[in-house]
Amino acid sequence: MLKSSSQIPLGGNIIKPGNSSEYKTGNWKTFSPVWDKDKCAQCLICPVNCPENCIPVKEGKRLETNFDFCKGCGICSQVCPFGAIHMKKCQTS
Ligand code: SF4
Ligand code: SF4
Repeated sequence: MLKSSSQIPLGGNIIKPGNSSEYKTGNWKTFSPVWDKDKCAQCLICPVNCPENCIPVKEGKRLETNFDFCKGCGICSQVCPFGAIHMKKCQTS
């Protein structure tokens, strides 16, 4: 039997503000950034350019990428002036 519109779960709606952290989207990516700590000069250009805000900064230094939310866009790799990030194809299962 067909459901009525009131019985169908909401879709495409933000029903609670500030809930994006509950949705881990990191498995969408086909390429993943690889950070070379030895080449990194801690200029902090990559964290401010990451559209997902998934490069954490603590006490003035960037830390490892939060891969739960990184979508593999490659912007961090493009903007790094020191060649400290390269993109690597993700393994497929
Ligand atoms: S690949 Fe894109 S989403 Fe992932 S850390 Fe770099 S800029 Fe952020
Ligand atoms: S842009 Fe490059 S050098 Fe600057 S903090 Fe990011 S990885 Fe390090």
